[in-house]
Amino acid sequence: MNYDFDVVIIGAGGAGMAAAIYTTRYDLKTVIFTKDIGGQAATTEVIENYPGFESVGGMELMQKFQKHAEKTGTEFRYEWVKQVSNIKFQISNNTSPQPSPMLGEGDDDGVASSLNPSSPDTGSGQVRRGDDGDSPLGAGVGGVSGFKITTDAGEYTAKVVILASGMKHKHLNVPGEERFEGHGVAYCATCDAPFYKNKVAAVVGGGNSALEAVEFLSRVATKVYGIVWDKEYQGEPALIKTVMASDKVEKIYNAETLEIKGDTKVKGLVYKNRTTGEQKEIALDGVFIEIGWQADTEWLGDLVETNKWGEIIVTEKAETKTPGLYAAGDLTNIFTKQLVASAGQGCLAAVRAIQFIREGK
Ligand SMILES: Cc1cc2nc3c(=O)[nH]c(=O)nc-3n(C[C@H](O)[C@H](O)[C@H](O)COP(=O)(O)OP(=O)(O)OC[C@H]3O[C@@H](n4cnc5c(N)ncnc54)[C@H](O)[C@@H]3O)c2cc1C
Repeated sequence: MNYDFDVVIIGAGGAGMAAAIYTTRYDLKTVIFTKDIGGQAATTEVIENYPGFESVGGMELMQKFQKHAEKTGTEFRYEWVKQVSNIKFQISNNTSPQPSPMLGEGDDDGVASSLNPSSPDTGSGQVRRGDDGDSPLGAGVGGVSGFKITTDAGEYTAKVVILASGMKHKHLNVPGEERFEGHGVAYCATCDAPFYKNKVAAVVGGGNSALEAVEFLSRVATKVYGIVWDKEYQGEPALIKTVMASDKVEKIYNAETLEIKGDTKVKGLVYKNRTTGEQKEIALDGVFIEIGWQADTEWLGDLVETNKWGEIIVTEKAETKTPGLYAAGDLTNIFTKQLVASAGQGCLAAVRAIQFIREGK
């Protein structure tokens, strides 16, 4: 079986790029599929707790990760992964590995048969290994196994997959949010705040991300509304202090956002006081939604086991329940969601993946 890649990594955040640095240094053909470089860390203006960097821009640090990963031989492809399937190939006497009717977990769509149903007869009677020639993947289970990765641009095979696709923004799910996304509704103040120079914006949310967004926007906007569900902000004391001290910020506590209004772009926000029920509309140019993040793992189906937050449950070696499938970073049940922790777990996943490819288990 010729695999397109030894290792497919999904996501170019701290976890994915750290993993790639390890697998490529072991000469494993590694690709990262991603939609951006740096993931969440690239969206924060400054990081002050990554060892070795007293204070560094989020984007700057992640570009260093990228440069490092490229130097060790990582290929980056800007493709969105839509499906991962575990595949098995039956070894027959005189042909190259044939798709097994006994599909692996998570693969219920006839995937294997669509891969290469008419593989040419090698006549060797031997399993053709991957391009390293010595990977007894799947040994002992009657065939070689691997993964099919389907992206918005194509299909690929790999010996192992490392899931490092992090988390996605939570949505308010109120009228106007989806309609005006990109037209006044935004989820990243570091990226989009400059568009609000001398304008009025609101930040919905009450935690650190919201506080950061309020602080960032208040540098350029004429006025920032802080729309907070609870009766106060919950976050780092230093950030709260800065936001409290700003005369550009109007805090609206105990508030539920009901609707984002506009015509071709955002013009206003309607909220209600959660105690009195009184509704108010404020005029503004933009709404930043910073109400947290959630693991985006449903699309992986039965390949992984998740906890009640949708986080992938992994072992201390970053193993999922599917052999050859590893997970690292914020999408796992890792104890803390921090860049250094994600990068560390990326290392664990990579080292375990290297061992799996070498030993076949
Ligand atoms: C505003 C903010 C400030 C922060 N500040 C700090 C800080 O100061 N210090 C700190 O240690 N941590 C900080 N964090 C947390 C830190 O950024 C995260 O813990 C870390 O980035 C997680 O890395 P990750 O690789 O697990 O996932 P992510 O960074 O979420 O990266 C996920 C990657 O996967 C890609 N992806 C997702 N789905 C797919 C798919 N289907 N196909 C292809 N690609 C996909 C994304 O494009 C992205 O590249 C901050 C986070 C935020 C949001």
